[in-house]
Order: sequence, then C-alpha cells, then structure tokens
Amino acid sequence: MANPIASIAASFDAQPLAPSPGKLVVISGPSGVGKTTILRSLLAELPQLIPGVSATTRSPRTGEQDGVDYHFLTLEEFERRRAAGEFLECCQVYGRQHWYGTLVEEVAPRLAAGAWVVLEIDVEGTLSILRRYDALTIFVEPSHPDQLSLRLKGRGTESPEAVARRLEVAHRELLEAHRYQHRVVNDNVHDAVQTIIRILRDAHLPPHTIDSTRPTNSVKASPTPSGAHA
Ligand code: ADP
Ligand code: 5GP
Repeated sequence: MANPIASIAASFDAQPLAPSPGKLVVISGPSGVGKTTILRSLLAELPQLIPGVSATTRSPRTGEQDGVDYHFLTLEEFERRRAAGEFLECCQVYGRQHWYGTLVEEVAPRLAAGAWVVLEIDVEGTLSILRRYDALTIFVEPSHPDQLSLRLKGRGTESPEAVARRLEVAHRELLEAHRYQHRVVNDNVHDAVQTIIRILRDAHLPPHTIDSTRPTNSVKASPTPSGAHA
C-alpha cells in the first residue's frame, strides 16, 4: 500500500540552515490530539515564542485568516516557490491533494534575530527539518488512541471521510513518537501546556520578547465547525 504521507523530502537539497542565536521548536502529533489548542495557550502564556506560519494549498476554514493561520497559496504558487527552493520543508499531508510547508523566510530571519520560533508540522516535515537544523522536538500524544476519533468528530471541521483518513495517518504517526526529544500526553490542556513550558525553560527559552520578531495578530483562530473540510 502506498505511503499516505507522500513526501518529496528526499528530493530536498538538505543544506543546513546557517547557525543562529535563536531556536526552532517543532510540535507534532496526530490530527485531533490538541496541538492547535495547546499552541494557542502556549503563545498566550509565552510572548517570546513566535509562531511560524506554514504555507498550504488547502482552502481556509471559516474564521481562518491568510497570513495568521496559514499563508494560503494556490497550487501553482506553491509549486513555483518549491521549485525556487523557498521551503525549509514541505510535503503532501494526508495522502490528498493539499500541500503544506515551512517557508525559509518565515523562520530564518527570526532565528537570526535571536527569536524562538515554534512550528506545528507533521512527522515527515520534522524529519526533513532535522536534516538541516537542530530543532527542539516535542510530540503531543493521547493517553489512548480512541481520544483522537472522539476529538476530531467533536471538532466537527472534517467530513467523515476526512476524519477516517486522518485517523489512518494518525496511527502511523503515533509509531514515530520515539523520534522526538520530548513526548507530552494531552489528557488535560492546562497540564500539557505547563509541561511544554517547563521543557522550553529547561532548554533556556529567553525570558523576554526579542523586539520586532513577533508579528501582530499572530494567534490562530479556533477552528469553526462550519463547512466540513476534506
Ligand atoms: P489538532 O490541532 O492536533 O488537530 P485541535 O487542537 O484542533 O487538534 O483539537 C481537536 C479537538 O479536541 C478540539 O475540539 C479541541 O477543543 C479538543 N481538545 C484538545 N485538547 C483536549 C483535551 N485535553 N481534552 C479534550 N478535548 C480536547
Ligand atoms: P490542517 O488541520 O490545518 O489542515 O492540517 C494541519 C496538519 O498539517 C498539522 O497537524 C500538521 O501536522 C500539518 N502541517 C501544517 N503545517 C505544516 C507544514 O508547514 N509542514 C508540514 N510538513 N506539515 C504541516
């Protein structure tokens, strides 16, 4: 059976990112585990953490804003920028037509300015980044896989077919958790956020915001369960 995480990671020219005073933090975990929820609280508690906005070819959900939740690109624009080498990593998530990727310009200038940039990306993307950069990696997991199905259905943003696809990928992603430096169980959002804050502080997160590295209006909207999304 074909790998549902169709990746072009292997074709990347894995040039290391230039050493920088900042730090890249990567948060992954299966769909529905609560990454977006956790990240929203984390960004509210830690103003010195800068969200790296990914690019995607999927269409915005209700309430999502271009440049805040994602840089929403057409497939042609994404392809053009990929061919131009503008992505730190990118891949086609969930075995469907949508592409997701981290633009170099989204992270490199901020790292150079000394900022800590946090990305919420999939396992495949994390492995691509680790070939180029010594990121701090955190995997968010459920205490029981059944929680994913309940949470995804409860969120109500995906069609039943999309939920089934995400769960299939989720089970594969859970097997990759051991590749991450830290694993955090999300039974309770507050506890998970506090655990991640401890991990970041132990890794010497700067106590203050680095001036002019955090974009305004940068905290993601809550997904709105209108219009089931493929
Ligand atoms: P992800 O970004 O990993 O796909 P979300 O943050 O969108 O996941 O969370 C999926 C759903 O689960 C949302 O409806 C969210 O409110 C809910 N959720 C998140 N964390 C928990 C938790 N610890 N317990 C119960 N529900 C949660
Ligand atoms: P969404 O629910 O927003 O359609 O999909 C989000 C999922 O896509 C996230 O759980 C994350 O794993 C993945 N993703 C988001 N942005 C990126 C990115 O820039 N690169 C990669 N590789 N995966 C991403």
